[in-house]
Amino acid sequence: MKIDVLTLFPEMFSGVFSQSILKKAAESNSVSYNVVNFREFADNKHQTVDDYPYGGGAGMVLKPQPIFDAVTELSNGEGGKKPRVILLCPQGRRYDQKKAEELANEEHLIFICGHYEGYDERIREHVITDEISIGDYVLTGGELGAMVIIDSVVRLLPGVLGNEESHQQDSFSTGFLEHPHYTRPADFRGMKVPDVLLSGNHRLIEEWRKKESLRRTFLRRPDLLQDVDLTDEQKKWLAEFEKPQD
Ligand code: SAM
Repeated sequence: MKIDVLTLFPEMFSGVFSQSILKKAAESNSVSYNVVNFREFADNKHQTVDDYPYGGGAGMVLKPQPIFDAVTELSNGEGGKKPRVILLCPQGRRYDQKKAEELANEEHLIFICGHYEGYDERIREHVITDEISIGDYVLTGGELGAMVIIDSVVRLLPGVLGNEESHQQDSFSTGFLEHPHYTRPADFRGMKVPDVLLSGNHRLIEEWRKKESLRRTFLRRPDLLQDVDLTDEQKKWLAEFEKPQD
């Protein structure tokens, strides 16, 4: 996968791309990152990228020209599929794991990070394929949002996580929140690991994990259960959780 990021603050990305799994993914050629300061594309003498809003009002608005030209240049030279051009914006569709999985199937992503008051509307209308918000709050710029999306997409690329299965059981990938985890010691200051996990019985462990995953989802995110088809066994467990406790 090729990832281009258009930003006015390229230094913000150096720490994130040079650590841990995102770094290893680039070293193993699963992904390549290219962070571009779109000020370099401004065609005016002072490399201005923003201007006052027509009609007046507070804040500055990103001009269309640098972003139109940067995206055109970065999209060129592609043999096959067109890139997904993603605008970070609090007004966009709220990001989730489904979107991460969809983007992980692409070959080329271009992220546009805004700053200031916003963008000229023609960028939204003519340049982008997706407009994504990472949540219902307002950040100072799109950089942190782009990092969140890139991190969640890159870890899904084949071979990036050591154990191929390790993201398939993650919260949201299965439609449920993940079950609780425990590690050694079995007894930590009197707090004990559930017996079943020490039993060595893989069938019972698997069943316990499925049940606890459902319990957690029911207690914390019941809204997620509206989108999944439950098995008869899961329906039985759910009825058990719903029963008032004495
Ligand atoms: N005036 C804009 C509005 O009310 O919709 C907010 C602009 S915000 C201060 C500046 C930039 O930060 C946005 O253009 C966008 O790139 C980024 N940003 C802010 N909040 C975001 C969010 N929740 N998700 C993704 N990007 C966000």
